[in-house]
Amino acid sequence: MNVLLIGSGGREHALAWAITASPLCDRLYAAPGNPGMEECAVCADLDAADHEAVIAFCRKHAIDFVVVGPEAPLVAGLVDDLAAAGIKAFGPSKAAAALEGSKGFTKDLCREFGIPTAAYQRFSNPDWAKAYARDRGMPIVVKADGLAAGKGVVVAATLTEADAAIDMMLGGGLGKAGAEVVIEDFLEGEEASFFALCDGKHALALASAQDHKRVFDGDKGPNTGGMGAYSPAPVMTPALEAQVMETIILPTVKAMEIRGTPFKGVLFAGLMITREGPKLIEHNVRFGDPEAQVLMPRLRSDLLPALIASADGVLKSVSLRWKDEAALCVVMATQGYPGAVEKGSEIRGLAQAASMENVLVFHAATRREGDRILADGGRVLGITATGADVAAAQARAYEAVAAIDWPEGFCRRDIGWRAVARKA
Ligand code: ATP
Repeated sequence: MNVLLIGSGGREHALAWAITASPLCDRLYAAPGNPGMEECAVCADLDAADHEAVIAFCRKHAIDFVVVGPEAPLVAGLVDDLAAAGIKAFGPSKAAAALEGSKGFTKDLCREFGIPTAAYQRFSNPDWAKAYARDRGMPIVVKADGLAAGKGVVVAATLTEADAAIDMMLGGGLGKAGAEVVIEDFLEGEEASFFALCDGKHALALASAQDHKRVFDGDKGPNTGGMGAYSPAPVMTPALEAQVMETIILPTVKAMEIRGTPFKGVLFAGLMITREGPKLIEHNVRFGDPEAQVLMPRLRSDLLPALIASADGVLKSVSLRWKDEAALCVVMATQGYPGAVEKGSEIRGLAQAASMENVLVFHAATRREGDRILADGGRVLGITATGADVAAAQARAYEAVAAIDWPEGFCRRDIGWRAVARKA
């Protein structure tokens, strides 16, 4: 079959790598893709926001199945428009993508269906929001309701910070995404991510991962899209995974079914493992980036039939096998990230790193100029390695990082520290 993958990041490169390994896949197209994906996919200059153009492309290239990587096209209803045109796609409908597109929507769903999460209220009036925050006490978490590319959450240690976040969001600082805010209690614990495939009725557990959101070693500095990740997450014992399925994933799928907006696709639950058990911080409706870069190398089974079964509503017939090995991804970014960065610096040593055993080099923001690969944004590469445990994968990944010759780039030196310390 012919498959079209929407997206251009490290997540999509990892998905492309897994999809093309499937005997079911005759040809993979990626829109827009990236230079790293050219090895396994035909990259097409196509704007995912233009649904008519995507449909026309699918017809022209006899696409049998579309896999949507990022959240924005899902929230914009690409899967609905493809379905209306008779084209099968992996991912939720626009209505079901509200699980990520509106934090207030998900919090209300949790309240209605008894899914464990932090206590909260929704506000569009800044005075009431501030009064509620003052009432709950510090620290408190202020969240913009809509998609804000990782900038919509402020963990406020003081009332001044909380008030400033409320004024910024409700004052239009994040555009439409901040027209409403959720104010919620601060949860203490260790964070982990858990992924499950869903088909509208059933859910199939995938695996756990942990990421590092802060830009500097020791989890310091501003938040980023993610500077690295590893899987499995040692904090997620089999008993905890079962509890997360039972108390968070399955009730979410059930709730969405009851509401008449069944959820299909991958549910990526951001969790806080608190003393009272796992609580939901947020739902995402797509694979994580960089988490996909550590999940895909651990998957022993064929990914593509599982994605198709999710879309077809027949996940019950699927079981997936995973490697016992750990995987760890170090993100290499252009200096200055998450602030403004200069594009166009040359990256050397990619082939050498990629030729190392147990190493995969995933491209995120790169551009080809003749034979040269240039940096084309903030997060540029994901260097992923597998190993017997997180420590072994970490050592291997940093050996591969050392092979990359890119003076204008940087990476964190401590990805996986929590898992390694736990083991030690
Ligand atoms: P993402 O980049 O994961 O999509 P996001 O902008 O959608 O992030 P959240 O994941 O909801 O926002 O929050 C971002 C981070 O803020 C979390 O990873 C967590 O560290 C912190 N956080 C959010 N809610 C809480 C909470 N209730 N208690 C403690 N920390 C929280």
